[in-house]
Amino acid sequence: MSHRTLLILDDPGGGEHHGELDALRARIGDLEQLAATDHLTGAWNRAHLDRVIEPELARSLANRQPLSLIMFDIDHFKNINDTFGHAVGDTVLRELVQLVHSRIRASDLLFRWGGEEFVVLLSSAGYRRAESVAESLRQAVASHTFEGAGVVTVSLGVAEHDGDEDAATWFRRLDAALYEGKQSGRNRVVVARRGNSDIWATEGGGSVLHLIWLEGYECGDPTIDAEHRELFLLANKLIDAALPAQVKPVEVRAALGEFLAHMQRHFSDEEAILAQLHYDNLAEHRRAHAGLIRRALAMVAQLDAGELSLGTIVEFLAQDVVARHLAVMDRAFFPLFRKASTAPAATPL
Ligand code: GH3
Ligand code: MG
Ligand code: MG
Repeated sequence: MSHRTLLILDDPGGGEHHGELDALRARIGDLEQLAATDHLTGAWNRAHLDRVIEPELARSLANRQPLSLIMFDIDHFKNINDTFGHAVGDTVLRELVQLVHSRIRASDLLFRWGGEEFVVLLSSAGYRRAESVAESLRQAVASHTFEGAGVVTVSLGVAEHDGDEDAATWFRRLDAALYEGKQSGRNRVVVARRGNSDIWATEGGGSVLHLIWLEGYECGDPTIDAEHRELFLLANKLIDAALPAQVKPVEVRAALGEFLAHMQRHFSDEEAILAQLHYDNLAEHRRAHAGLIRRALAMVAQLDAGELSLGTIVEFLAQDVVARHLAVMDRAFFPLFRKASTAPAATPL
């Protein structure tokens, strides 16, 4: 299929080749990751950015989650090469990438755009949060001592996706912000102060009963965060199904079923991730998950008996799932990810 290769892994032997297939799958995953990585620095490469940008944009618009970009460029890098040599220049690039990785969330992606220019893609971030990330990066770089080169600074541009502009227009605004930073003296952040976060906030978006996703719900693990966002989406679909005066039980049942299936899948993924990190409160967390699933199953029974009300649904979603579980119990494990590794997060290609 155009530039993709599809391998069909047939296993007629009834399972005896599972080990080999798993190894092959893992190897393919490694090769994909390698092809998407910039070899000098370990950041994602530009080809990978080209691949992920459209799906990320589509997801942002569908979920009404803002998306922002930071572009940065080393100040007077040519002088660093000329003064200390190309090898030191290479070391600076590598150290810079390590430094930036240690300052961004695991769900933020760092790409080498070319030469000494880089791009960070921040999901669920409006330009205000992107600006504070950019400013913290600027300060971290300026106060770091680079091996063989000493003090190095960067200039940064910030732009949030705005309206229905295409990716090329968005990147032009980003580039213009960075250019302004260079023109106005370097070692600074310039922000294009507009974006969908403002547009969506003034529109209010949908029902007042809808659950609103907040940046503070992000833990930094890409799998957990994506599943949490999906959970909000499905919860709001469920509220929409139960909202009309003439409720169609078939639609409520379908929405509730979809929500419950995702919640179960998410809980088991989350528990697996927490187990791998030896999370202290895992047993308690599992019990809380089981309790939520019991309550959701009870709602299915209520629906069958014609006793399920919108109030029950909203109270369960807003109070039990979000206010008590996500905002309190889940938050207790967030520190596990704040200190997460500095390696780029593996994203499905
Ligand atoms: P400005 O502050 O305006 O960005 O000035 P600058 O000198 O950083 O900008 P310019 O674009 O003129 O120079 C970029 C330099 O980056 C030139 C190029 O040789 C160097 N460069 C690009 N890629 C690499 C690399 O992989 N390794 C090294 N050592 N240097 C690189
Ligand atoms: Mg430069
Ligand atoms: Mg440059």
